Amino acid sequence: MSVAKDRPRAPRFAAPGFTALRPAALRPSALRLRTGAFFKSVIPAAALAALATPALFATSAPVQAAAAPTVHSFAAQPKLVDTTNTHWVETDEGVIVIDTQRVFPEAERALRHIQRTGKPVLGIFITHAHTDHYGGLSLFKAAFPDAPVFAAAETTRSMREDSRGYNAARKARHGDIFPSQDVISANLPDRTIDDGDVVELGGLRFEVHKMGPSEAEVTSMLYLRDHDLLFAGDLINDGFVPAPLESLDNWLVQLDEIEARYGADTTVYIGHGPHGPLAPALAAQRAYLEDLGAAVTAAIGDGVLDGAEAETIAFDLEARYPYWHGVGGNARIEVLSAVAGFVAEQRGAEVRSDAAFR
Ligand SMILES: [Zn+2]
Repeated sequence: MSVAKDRPRAPRFAAPGFTALRPAALRPSALRLRTGAFFKSVIPAAALAALATPALFATSAPVQAAAAPTVHSFAAQPKLVDTTNTHWVETDEGVIVIDTQRVFPEAERALRHIQRTGKPVLGIFITHAHTDHYGGLSLFKAAFPDAPVFAAAETTRSMREDSRGYNAARKARHGDIFPSQDVISANLPDRTIDDGDVVELGGLRFEVHKMGPSEAEVTSMLYLRDHDLLFAGDLINDGFVPAPLESLDNWLVQLDEIEARYGADTTVYIGHGPHGPLAPALAAQRAYLEDLGAAVTAAIGDGVLDGAEAETIAFDLEARYPYWHGVGGNARIEVLSAVAGFVAEQRGAEVRSDAAFR
């Protein structure tokens, strides 16, 4: 059981999302609507001071209480490199894409599926700055040059500056099927989103819920409140070894926050693995992270994690979770040994293991 369990819960609904909706709700076209969503969005009827912040992005189309959108997913094939999902939300007006694969062959396949809808891409979201989610962005931008690309400022900066060295490492590993830094820098997201923003696309309202350092530096989750659909990036994986590259402890706190904020039956679309109801996916993710954290804590009592200890942690977790796979083209045991080192480092231990997450 997480120690964070007793922490006060965040309110179920985030006020900023509603605030940001007011301008759209007051447009004449929206005033004609008599839907629950409309009334929610104008109450409380505060002044339009919220126009300035948080940001509101809107297409020219009026916001309507549309029928539930269809969400499609493409999952990369682990035999090539990855297991990453690209999701696209289809409405009458067009398609909204979430994440763009890592390597070009997978991005091309995802694109072919999206193009088969015959609809325009109205926008692209990049959930976080890991290469398996943006390596294919240049192909998406070439195919849909008019589509705005949304990401958090930290995500775009990390892509541009390669602050963690992921771009260089993946270019060295994958060669022609991964973009150069020049290509990445020439195809960056061109719209900045922040926590509480609402992005209106295709008659849908994507609420942005930005999380700080955990799996990635930041993750921009997206929530379609009217349809109770959550896009969680890699904060929830199902069946794939999690990589707490920034902070395992923060990640556990964030899982509590997600649990408090969304319903158990919220449908969650994730970075790796199939979509489904939130509660079981979240419980599985939490259990894995807690087991990993406890194993590392036990091993670093002397302030050191050596190679043998990292390997023991990896083997124990592999045995306990036999159906969870490695990610990023890495063997599971490699991922786990490396991840044990990350967590040990986050907890102030000296890491004497050469296990690498490539
Ligand atoms: Zn990922």
